Amino acid sequence: MKEQMDLCKLIEKYGDDNKCRAAIEHLRWPDGVRCPACQSEKISRIAARNQFDCDSCRYQFSATAGTIFHDTHLPLHKWFLATYLMCESKKGVPALQIQRMLKTTYRTAWHLCHRIRAAMLETAPEKLNGTVEIDETYVGGKKRRWRARCERAVVIGIRKRNGELRLVRAKDATAATVREIIAAHVGEDVEVIMTDESAIYPWALTKLPKEKHKTINHTREYAHGDIHTNTIESAFSLLKRGIVGTWHKVSSKHLPAYLDEMCFRFNNRKNPYLFRDTILKLIASPNLEYKNLTAKVQDAA
Ligand SMILES: [Zn+2]
Repeated sequence: MKEQMDLCKLIEKYGDDNKCRAAIEHLRWPDGVRCPACQSEKISRIAARNQFDCDSCRYQFSATAGTIFHDTHLPLHKWFLATYLMCESKKGVPALQIQRMLKTTYRTAWHLCHRIRAAMLETAPEKLNGTVEIDETYVGGKKRRWRARCERAVVIGIRKRNGELRLVRAKDATAATVREIIAAHVGEDVEVIMTDESAIYPWALTKLPKEKHKTINHTREYAHGDIHTNTIESAFSLLKRGIVGTWHKVSSKHLPAYLDEMCFRFNNRKNPYLFRDTILKLIASPNLEYKNLTAKVQDAA
């Protein structure tokens, strides 16, 4: 799985379950199959049942044992195809489209998308340095309704110019909340932070030397030389096209997962092995139960 993936190669290499199982085996144990119970390398293959038998402890297991792919009624090649589609679509793929393309029920497609999405997560995101743009936006909620303001979720976007993106759902857009988010995602050695003239930023950035904070007045101009927040705004417009056009209606509970998916794909846009890396993450992922995904959350913040 070393070369860049395209749809033809995907079908050729992972078009049926045997091929997918062999790929999982190879990715999981690149140096040869090991027993998950005792780590022994003395393994017999029971080809007829797609199983392995450990010669040391007699434990019998399959290539998918203990992974997210185990105990799923969904054929492996559908997992691979859905993963490929989610890696390749800039704005994300609606579960409805996965349902149609993979000929599953909507519930299966929705659950599948959520499990792949949960794997599309940066494991140890680094703090951003250099020139960093920060802006806030609001997503969700219907404009016509009087309660709309309460329903709209605040998303803080942080992007290093020519670098990585972070999208974080915030409980509100106050300086205290934004300060915490900045502290978690921006390095102390940041060269300069660009924001608009919103009053929250001077309060959120009290620890930053004044000369390191540059602002642009959006009522007058979009950019003043190098001072602008255009790169974070283009990320917001991608997010909104994703939410409006692709995900249709994102509940507040699932918004952080969608934001993570968006950032993961964006930050890996130049990674030719994104598909392989995502399959690797799926192999290492714990399963995400349907009932946990649909459970109501008390605290929407
Ligand atoms: Zn063993």
